[in-house]
Amino acid sequence: MITADCHLHTSFSTDSDAPMEAMLASAVRKGLSTVCFTEHLDYDYPPENGEEVFLLDLPAYCEKLLELRERFRGKIEVLFGVELGMMPYLGARCEEVVRAWPFDFVIASSHLVDGRDPYYPDFFEGVSEEEAYASYFRTIPANVRAFSSFHTYAHLDYVVRYGPHRNERYSYEKYREAIEPALRILIENGKALEVNTGGYRSGLGQPNPHLDVLRAYRELGGELITIGSDAHAPEGVALEFDRLSELLPALGFTHYAVFKGGKPELRPF
Ligand SMILES: [Zn+2]
Ligand SMILES: [Zn+2]
Repeated sequence: MITADCHLHTSFSTDSDAPMEAMLASAVRKGLSTVCFTEHLDYDYPPENGEEVFLLDLPAYCEKLLELRERFRGKIEVLFGVELGMMPYLGARCEEVVRAWPFDFVIASSHLVDGRDPYYPDFFEGVSEEEAYASYFRTIPANVRAFSSFHTYAHLDYVVRYGPHRNERYSYEKYREAIEPALRILIENGKALEVNTGGYRSGLGQPNPHLDVLRAYRELGGELITIGSDAHAPEGVALEFDRLSELLPALGFTHYAVFKGGKPELRPF
């Protein structure tokens, strides 16, 4: 059984309007013992309608979280995390924010390739889907090398949620040349790989990354995984966790990690 959801957004993230209290109430209803909020902080995300987006009011976020940690004490454990959107030149700024705040858990992820988000269709204009996917995967080793103060790499194949054919023409083998180096670097640096059930929400029938990527990570020696729903609304908390608690042991994973104060606590399935 999976008792912790370690990737959650609330109204402190640009793309969610869920109150933190509502996310916590949902997590309690679903029987979780631990949640970690991981609000978005994407430096240099292109402004939308002239407004800055995906920046984070860290003082307000931290204050609210500490207040709710006390209010929910005895019901659920509330951890303080962040999801940092990486690009290769952002390493120093990301290191700085991690030093400045007492995060339990730091997620790094790739949302932008050269300042463009595959979420928007123009990412795929004028280029084949295959090249667009490969261009995304090629950024991950560069991102991982640029920044060392993270604990897990999130939704490693995020790009396949949005391509013209989604994951129909996608396989680990097809993009292995780009993905395998990223997996090796995570393993060599002692970083975790995230299993993100947002892929089910996007209709992929798979978590992000695909089970074949998770299998490859395990075969390469990777053992450390974190688990999150990437929910932006209360109903999405712990999405498909029952399914994962069968699939992941079948791939050879015995535990998943919950980071507290930057240290992994290993929980059995
Ligand atoms: Zn993300
Ligand atoms: Zn997220």
